Amino acid sequence: MIDLKNLSIKKAIGMIHDGDISAREILLAYQENIKKKNGEVNAYLETFNEEAFARAEEIDKQILAGDEPKVLSGIPFAIKDNILIKGKTCSAGSKILENYTATYDASVIKKLRSAGAVFLGRTNMDEFAMGSSTETSAFGPTKNPLDLERVPGGSSGGSAAAVAMDGALVAIGSDTGGSIRQPASFCGVVGLKPTYGSVSRYGLMAMASSLDQIGPLTKTVEDAEIVFNVLKGRDENDSTSMESPERITKKDLQKPLRIGVLKYDDSGIDETVAKTMKDTIAKMDKLGHEIKEVELPLLKYALPCYYIIMPAEVSANLARFDGVRYGFLKQGENLLEDYMETRGAGFGREARKRVMLGAYVLSAGYYDAYYGKAGKVRAMIKKEFQKVFKDVDAIILPTAPTVAFKFGEKTNDPIQMYLSDVFTVSANLAGIPAISIPGRIGEGLPAGIQFMAPWFREDILFKLGKEYESYE
Ligand code: GLN
Repeated sequence: MIDLKNLSIKKAIGMIHDGDISAREILLAYQENIKKKNGEVNAYLETFNEEAFARAEEIDKQILAGDEPKVLSGIPFAIKDNILIKGKTCSAGSKILENYTATYDASVIKKLRSAGAVFLGRTNMDEFAMGSSTETSAFGPTKNPLDLERVPGGSSGGSAAAVAMDGALVAIGSDTGGSIRQPASFCGVVGLKPTYGSVSRYGLMAMASSLDQIGPLTKTVEDAEIVFNVLKGRDENDSTSMESPERITKKDLQKPLRIGVLKYDDSGIDETVAKTMKDTIAKMDKLGHEIKEVELPLLKYALPCYYIIMPAEVSANLARFDGVRYGFLKQGENLLEDYMETRGAGFGREARKRVMLGAYVLSAGYYDAYYGKAGKVRAMIKKEFQKVFKDVDAIILPTAPTVAFKFGEKTNDPIQMYLSDVFTVSANLAGIPAISIPGRIGEGLPAGIQFMAPWFREDILFKLGKEYESYE
């Protein structure tokens, strides 16, 4: 029996290398777990059993023939349903794309493939990544494996649940306003949103292009680092992607680091989250880091700013789903009716709401008051981060205000639902990297703590995260 609970990428690769285990055996252990648990959890919308098996066999053969295992040889990955895998359905959790087959591999898929990864299947998500609970998926919600009455978070809820139920060693998600970090927090796993531009978005179905980033959900910070190193880099198919500039990343990580504790309004913050924060700050202090209080006064505008910019981009990105080009078509009497019928029946409520909101904030009469202004506020928020990062190397704050909530608890109150993102959206608006790491205060539902670092300084996140994880 493989101890999946304590398996990490490094351990798995080591075992495969030493011939203690085969890629096939690892795969079978995960597939068995998926078979046992997915019926209830609904983390996966589809599993690729035969292909995965063939792929694991191929890797075993190569290793038997004497090839050194690659960084991810035989590592089983779950892929969010908005990342294209050639020849596979990719539905973004939406009915409108239920029968859409991807015609090419996303750049991250290509990279993972050549690093030896095995793809287990595609994971459930909020429709087009819009949501914080996976309840907006057209294919039913995903349950939190830690408590089946609760949501796994979202929108990458299926990916987080897959890792948390030991249904994958690693999962890939996307984060537009917190969709990797918040579900990671709710499911007790690590979630990394990299610097904007450090990972190619080619082949990721766009939600809000200036905010979207692909990143890993893993069990340990080291695993997140390994996967990030495979994913990152310039891709000529995504003009916003770039190599991490050496003048930034080459800087030494002098010890102690200066950690800024963000001052925030703690009404609405639940007890586990508050305790986890306190505990983490104390640990970071004992580890010898310099703890300072920092303020980001404009942060209170981050959420309203996000909820203007994001729907504006959503309305533009979703315009292509018109019944003609992709997937689902519901025919009307004429072309306009085709569009209206298709989009009315193909999109769920949340998607329709955001498309309307986006069209409104972009409309000629309101552009200046909303979209134009939000763009200015965004630039100011970015400047504020630049200023704070002159004084500190990282910022620490909660990932979400609460632990995982119950199904239906926030579906009728969108403001409450949107408030789940209050601590995460600022990193997307500014483009900085951020990581959520499970807090360590013992029993009960987990709460993630979040570190943010300056642009392209994922190394700081990994260092702090690993130190925190190994603190005795
Ligand atoms: N929960 C946020 C939203 O609903 C973030 C989504 C995301 O990061 N994809 O927009």
